[in-house]
Amino acid sequence: MLKVFCAPARYTQGPQATEQLGHEIYNLGLGGPALIVAGRSAIRLLSDAWAQTFATTGTNYEVFTFAGECTLREIERGSQAARAAKAQVVIGAGGGKVLDTARAIAADLSLPVVNCPTIASSDAPCSALSVIYNEAGEWEAYRIYRRNPDLVLVDTAVIAKSPIRPLVSGMGDALATWFEAKVCAEHGAKNMRGGASTRSALSLAELCYKTLLADGLAAIEALRDQEPNDALERLVEANTLLSGLGFESSGLAAAHAIHNGLTAAAGTHDYMHGEKVAFGLLAQLMLESQSNAVIEEVLAFSASVGLPTTFADIGIDNPDSDLLERIAQRATMPGETIHNEPIQITPKLVIEALRAADSAGMAFRQTPRTSHLPY
Ligand SMILES: [Zn+2]
Repeated sequence: MLKVFCAPARYTQGPQATEQLGHEIYNLGLGGPALIVAGRSAIRLLSDAWAQTFATTGTNYEVFTFAGECTLREIERGSQAARAAKAQVVIGAGGGKVLDTARAIAADLSLPVVNCPTIASSDAPCSALSVIYNEAGEWEAYRIYRRNPDLVLVDTAVIAKSPIRPLVSGMGDALATWFEAKVCAEHGAKNMRGGASTRSALSLAELCYKTLLADGLAAIEALRDQEPNDALERLVEANTLLSGLGFESSGLAAAHAIHNGLTAAAGTHDYMHGEKVAFGLLAQLMLESQSNAVIEEVLAFSASVGLPTTFADIGIDNPDSDLLERIAQRATMPGETIHNEPIQITPKLVIEALRAADSAGMAFRQTPRTSHLPY
């Protein structure tokens, strides 16, 4: 199997990065007209900066207001707007659903795409895939694109003014990356591009994990102050770039499959992707019979930043065995990334791992040396 590493063509990050958006696009050899797909809050926050940055490069652009859900209908509506504007590049600005929609529109029209996340809530912005959910909010499929984004531009002054919960959720998504990447690399599983992992991707995934542990808490402070600090710069890079490269070029394993299983429980729908992934990771560590030291390190980090560690934390307090069976069946469907684990996975094993994760989370919380910090 060939090793494959993939990445966006360019990644730009820093306070007021939006002011350079026009130049960054121009420097890549891309030109207008541009279609900006954006949610209402991104439009409110960024429209002045867009007017200024695109004036300096003389780029025409139109803004398409995102309706709220990444559905096939919304993708088609955006594609029509892009055609009408004769767009040569599609720019997504906002949260995950906006960026997913922008990537889908660009892919449908074979146009270059620029992602400008306004929250650091997941590692999707650098990747060449979108997650599609059905109308009921259940995980449905990964939609894989030919190319990674041409540019990912993250304005950390914007992130510093975003709510804390999405940033912490992004930490949950990034927390699993190293553990899932390691499983895939060690056991020869395919990454998201169908190739083998590289040493590069694996070491980026490890740096991602170390950065979370070192900077997670201090990054939250930056959001309380609404001002970027050095810890936020490193943490945003970990959530967005390191985790994105790590998962896509090394692969996913049990944590994300269990996340997908958890979406079958209606109680979890109010919880963000990374929050469910964080609990899925705890279950993965149980499945793998990881050492207490590893489990404690992950639990201590999760508790310190406010990531879920129990069933109750993800909206399924005291789940009955029918519900756990549904979650486990969904998590172990043929083709799921849980089968990248080196042991034969059965729904029964997943149920045991979920219960063990919940018990470990409860026990950890009851130990006097830690506190579960609210945010
Ligand atoms: Zn994820």
